[in-house]
This record gives sequence, structure tokens and C-alpha cells, in this order.
Amino acid sequence: LIQLESIHKAFGDLHVLKGCDLEVAPGEVAVLVGPSGSGKSTLLRCINQLEEPTAGRVRIAGVTQGYVEEPLPDGRWQKLSTAEIARQRARIGMVFQRFHLFPHMTALANVMEAPMQVLGRTKAQAQESALALLERVGLADRADHYPSELSGGQQQRVAIARALAMEPELMLFDEPTSALDPELVAEVLAVLKELAEGGMTMIVVTHEMGFAREVADQVVFMDDGMILEQGTPEQLIEHPQSDRLQGFLASVL
Ligand code: ATP
Ligand code: MG
Repeated sequence: LIQLESIHKAFGDLHVLKGCDLEVAPGEVAVLVGPSGSGKSTLLRCINQLEEPTAGRVRIAGVTQGYVEEPLPDGRWQKLSTAEIARQRARIGMVFQRFHLFPHMTALANVMEAPMQVLGRTKAQAQESALALLERVGLADRADHYPSELSGGQQQRVAIARALAMEPELMLFDEPTSALDPELVAEVLAVLKELAEGGMTMIVVTHEMGFAREVADQVVFMDDGMILEQGTPEQLIEHPQSDRLQGFLASVL
């Protein structure tokens, strides 16, 4: 479903991604780990085009963005049009560390908003699927609550329901539990696990190694803008090859 080829990203002189290759097949869960500043968020942002890679290609089920292999005669990027980018981004759901819910809208209204605005659903259609999604994340009884009336874990589950309302083919999670109190982490991870079992293709940045061990098809270790190791949870967690990964695991396990 998704294929990253030699992704580079620089912010001015700061070379943040130094050639990342990654493939995630349909229905697969990839867990991305690595020290702070290693480029995990930047890589996710390149996938849904919140950032434009400096070089390399992102392929999402046939749609290619980034460099053409032979640069155009004038050396420019071949870019997708704004409309194409919007269309492609609509296929990718993203959930962040902070929930970014609309504070003046109920949980239900938060989930209904994008399908009505972007997908052109009627209010009745949007409400029906929003209620089903809230049910799925265990919040049917909180539909009429405002974000300020919900716990962090509940808000994050609304954020997940809101992303799912766009019927994405791929979900990106950037440390979805790291802003939560420890006792609320499990309820959010349970929702992720259920999504994974339902066949959703997912890339999850998290330091929850228990989750990685249980749910990931592949674990990817990033260090200093490069993918240093990747493999099954068993390979990466039980048999880390590099000193860097061993040191990292010692710090999170
Ligand atoms: P963390 O675990 O702390 O979230 P990360 O692995 O997600 O870290 P990134 O957020 O991708 O790391 O950042 C990688 C590097 O890129 C950092 O040095 C960061 O300061 C830098 N960086 C990220 N975004 C920008 C930006 N918009 N402009 C300049 N530098 C940036
Ligand atoms: Mg980050």
C-alpha cells in the first residue's frame, strides 16, 4: 500500500531524514521507534505531505509523489497538484500526541464535521456513521459531551473516531498515548489493537514496546534520520543487532 524510497528531508542546513526506505503492505502494522529527534514525526509528515521530502519518493497505492527518476530538464520537482495532494491526504488519517478536537463541538459533532464538509455526507448519514464509530471506540455514551468534559484517553479515542470517519485507507499515529496519564494509555492502545485486527494499515510511532510486540508486523528503528534496523518484533526487540538499538531499548523497556 505504501512505499517510501530513499526519503530525504532537510530544513535548511539540518539534514533530518537521510534516505529512508520503508514498505508497508495492506493490512500491515508498522511500529516506528527511535530516540527523540531521530526524525519519526518528520517521516510521518512526509507520508501525508504535511512536509515535502527534499528527495525521494512516496508511493501510496499507485500514486507517486516526489522526484521523478529523471528530473525534469529544468531540475524541478514533479509535484502533485494541490487538488491531487488533497485527494491523497484524504485517504490517510492521522492522529497526534495532542488531540486537537474542536473545543466548541460535542464528541459527536467532532466526528461528523469532516464527512459533511469534505465528503459531502448529509447530516443524517454523518450522524449515523459517527455514532457507530463512537460505539466502536467505546464512547457511545459520551457522544454529547464536549472535549473539556472528557478525559485525555476519551478525547484521544474521539480523535481516532474522527480520523476514521474519513474512511482512510491508511492511519498514521504519532505517539498517540504519550500525552496521557499512565492509567489511560491502555484504553487507547486497545482501540489501536482492535483497528489493527480489523485489517487497517497503520504506522504507529510509539514507545509502548508491549504494544509493538503484540500488534506490530514490523518494527522500524530510526536513529539520526536513518532506518538502522527493521524486522519483526521478535527480531528487533529480542535480538537487537546494533548498540544504538540495544541502548534505546534499555531506555524504554
Ligand atoms: P520526538 O521523539 O521528540 O517526537 P522525532 O523523532 O519525531 O522526535 P522529529 O520531530 O521528526 O523527531 O524531528 C527531527 C529533527 O528535525 C529535530 O532535530 C527537529 O528539531 C527537526 N525539525 C523538525 N521539524 C522541523 C521544522 N519544521 N523546521 C526545522 N527543524 C525541524
Ligand atoms: Mg515526534
